[in-house]
Amino acid sequence: MAENLKPDICVIGGGSGGLSVAAAAAAFGVSCVLIERHKMGGDCLNTGCVPSKALLAAARRAALAQSAAPFGVTASAAVDFATVHQHVRDTIAAIAPTDSVERFTGLGVRVILGSAKFKDRRTVAVGDIEIRARRFVIATGSVPALPPIPGIDSGPTLTNENIFNLTALPQHLIIIGAGPVGLEMAQAFRRLGSEVTVLEAASPLATDDPECAAIVLAALEREGVVIRSGVKVASIKHAGGSVMVTVAGESGEETVAGTHLLVAAGRKPATDGLDLEAAGVRHDASGIAVNRKLKTRNRRIYAIGDVAAGQLQFTHAANYHAGLVIRNALFRLPVRVSNDAVPWVTYTEPELAQAGLTESQARARGHKNIRILRWPYHDNDRAQAERETHGHIKVVTDKKGKILGATIVGAEAGELIATWILAISQELNIRALTGVVLPYPTLSEVGKRAAIDFFVPSLTRPFVRRIIALLRIFG
Ligand SMILES: Cc1cc2nc3c(=O)[nH]c(=O)nc-3n(C[C@H](O)[C@H](O)[C@H](O)COP(=O)(O)OP(=O)(O)OC[C@H]3O[C@@H](n4cnc5c(N)ncnc54)[C@H](O)[C@@H]3O)c2cc1C
Repeated sequence: MAENLKPDICVIGGGSGGLSVAAAAAAFGVSCVLIERHKMGGDCLNTGCVPSKALLAAARRAALAQSAAPFGVTASAAVDFATVHQHVRDTIAAIAPTDSVERFTGLGVRVILGSAKFKDRRTVAVGDIEIRARRFVIATGSVPALPPIPGIDSGPTLTNENIFNLTALPQHLIIIGAGPVGLEMAQAFRRLGSEVTVLEAASPLATDDPECAAIVLAALEREGVVIRSGVKVASIKHAGGSVMVTVAGESGEETVAGTHLLVAAGRKPATDGLDLEAAGVRHDASGIAVNRKLKTRNRRIYAIGDVAAGQLQFTHAANYHAGLVIRNALFRLPVRVSNDAVPWVTYTEPELAQAGLTESQARARGHKNIRILRWPYHDNDRAQAERETHGHIKVVTDKKGKILGATIVGAEAGELIATWILAISQELNIRALTGVVLPYPTLSEVGKRAAIDFFVPSLTRPFVRRIIALLRIFG
């Protein structure tokens, strides 16, 4: 039956960003329509963060069993991949109710399942339902980008959209793309028993600090993941249950043969079918153009999350965007999006976590006389007890000690980075990190040790040297 709705806010896309906007709108008693064309929860719940972390968790159990011998524990890891698959499905199912139609309907949001399409600058249609809202938020996310390689569509290709449906372990998984997604999957499948070859045209983990990324790459290679960087995939051929990938590198062309192919070579914005032209919304291959308030060229329409051009593509970035839109659209507060506020973590083992600026970003921004502080995991007592000694913290400060950024590579880096996210967001001086009492023995002491080092080189007075020595002993 045809229907005309006139909510305050209409959200298109029920993923990380869209659900956050809808939940906040409902909490403030603002009428809200949410449109979702596929699965509530979007990429993160169904084909991204959640299944990938569940798969990594299973793989970690296998790796722990295999590395227990030095602790005096003998264990063997037999992987039943069907049960691994079930664990991934169970994890999604456990979280799904939080993102469900039922929950959002209960919150007072009108949820419409279907594809949204703009009719004009302030009307969206879903089938025969028309929504004329005061504000629209486009949160339609992104989809895997398939590079135009000859033969890529000549047989079955895995992406994040179907790899978590596998119920049997690939014998030899070839992965195109050594970004966070490609490398997380590489480690997971290798630990579960697959042979894994990763092909990367440029540098692996290119947006991360290279010295810290190198520690992750070395760990993966120690576990048997083959990583080939600087190679261009020239063609792909599927034949009789195998896949042949021809690569061109410095030493000429060669063919890598495997059983499965995963493409993890970037994302493209999900704008198909929206008819953004009808709404006067500017967009291109990088996404929907937005200003610092995340508004599109049509002032009634915001774009957030993966679909917004120039933004970092993470669930917490989409949530952050949602918060800004709510403040601006509902309370008319001034907002200004900043990628600097968005940390990120690659969930390999060791984990790689970034807050604020990397060293090269700090230098590119013209920060002069920056200080680099490091402290290795192998000088941390807890890391020794756990045999988790690969990794270090690297902190970037200005010459007065203002913290510009921190990178942690090592065990629990994704948890340890929280202190540094807080320190950077509160514009703390590194001195603040030297004064806190931390429980011993914890990995968090690595950060305090790096902070103390800020005061070491410039100090010549014997009295101050003694203070530093004391801090090192008792700090
Ligand atoms: C393998 C993988 C692992 C990841 N791991 C992490 C991680 O560990 N941590 C992290 O922070 N990020 C991670 N990400 C990234 C994260 O999943 C995304 O950044 C996040 O989901 C983006 O949220 P979003 O709201 O912009 O889009 P999505 O969550 O993708 O939601 C978009 C929704 O819009 C719907 N939609 C699209 N078009 C229409 C239309 N026309 N009408 C109606 N509905 C529509 C889609 O069906 C979808 O449900 C990962 C991504 C991948 C691929």
